[in-house]
Amino acid sequence: MKKYDYLIVGSGLFGAVFAHKAKLAGKSCLIIDKRNHKGGNIYCENVEGINVHKYGAHIFHTNDKFIWDFVNSFVEFNRYTNSPVANYNGEIYNLPFNMNTFNKLWGVITPKEAQEHIKNQIKELNIYNPSNLEEQALSLVGTDIFNKLIKEYTEKQWGRECKDLPAFIIKRLPVRFTYDNNYFNDKYQGIPIGGYNKLIDGLLEGIEIQLDTDYFSNREYFDSLAENTVFTGKIDEYYDFQYGKLSYRSLRFETEVLDNENYQGNAVVNYTSKNEPYTRIIEHKHFEFGTQSKTVVTKEYSLEASSNSEPYYPINDDENNELYRKYKKLADEEKNVIFGGRLAEYKYYDMHQVIGSALKKSRDIFGL
Ligand code: FAD
Repeated sequence: MKKYDYLIVGSGLFGAVFAHKAKLAGKSCLIIDKRNHKGGNIYCENVEGINVHKYGAHIFHTNDKFIWDFVNSFVEFNRYTNSPVANYNGEIYNLPFNMNTFNKLWGVITPKEAQEHIKNQIKELNIYNPSNLEEQALSLVGTDIFNKLIKEYTEKQWGRECKDLPAFIIKRLPVRFTYDNNYFNDKYQGIPIGGYNKLIDGLLEGIEIQLDTDYFSNREYFDSLAENTVFTGKIDEYYDFQYGKLSYRSLRFETEVLDNENYQGNAVVNYTSKNEPYTRIIEHKHFEFGTQSKTVVTKEYSLEASSNSEPYYPINDDENNELYRKYKKLADEEKNVIFGGRLAEYKYYDMHQVIGSALKKSRDIFGL
């Protein structure tokens, strides 16, 4: 008999939701996390009384009432609505592309005028079979939107010219013919009042956790502690990179405290020109309608993936997906190991999706 029913590697949303359900089912759990805090990428650091989203801006959104009620049972969410703006060399445009954007670009007022404008721009380009991202985007939204709001931003994100990027990266570009600046179409969205740590604290209440603890520092020992393992780290690392490393896109964050009550008037401003090296500036207090006398801003830089950088976004191209399939085959053969979450499933998950996935897994196992 081992000491615990479950060893859970990783205290991010997947690990935390699974642990919560396991505890309700009467199972004993130990969570370990190699970071010095719990919560994975939704962790917030309190700076000057402001919840700073340490691993990038996180806005909760979902269409699923069950998941919305689930998260609200741990912490109340505020009415924050994501309405980012784009700054192109000092010109401000609303995102996602909508009637406010089109009015600012061309002075058009009605949806019909905007549609005509875009249609005419696309027609003049004569692109029938887009062979790269530039042609693909141009054929979807025309010249002006592409040049001011997509081209240089995308080039900063990928570190390559749009002409040299594959067309499949942009399958569709949301264009909205209403004066609606709400970025998401989901029924529910918001930010936990008091920050995401409250959600994690609620999920992990009464569950044993060891921080600063890397599973790979002594995996035989950790395996000996529990009957089952829930692994939410990198799947390729679990298998000693035996088939090679999966690639990720990474980010670099530069955070500073400013002696200024309100720096940019919005939580998220995208910088769509190449004249600024960063892609976005986040002003964290606006997620929670903060009235502190200072503010905290984070500049976000896109990084080419390298083996040393923090893995943020999986690069799900054919080569990496094929590699992942090989690791998945090994994972499927494991008897007492569950692989879950964005790193173990090599999949971009929004928060509501990773919660949904952990709830499904625990329902399958514990029936609740
Ligand atoms: P993680 O949060 O990464 O948790 C994994 C944990 O495992 C980490 O704490 C890690 O330290 C630990 N770990 C890994 N390896 C080991 C090991 N060997 N030993 C011990 N511990 C280990 N979603 C939204 O819904 N809205 C958003 O606005 C949004 N914005 C995002 C912005 C960015 C920049 C990024 C990267 C993601 C964003 N997401 C957003 C997605 C969201 O972050 C994820 O859905 C969620 O955090 C995934 O949870 P997870 O448990 O799978 O992974």
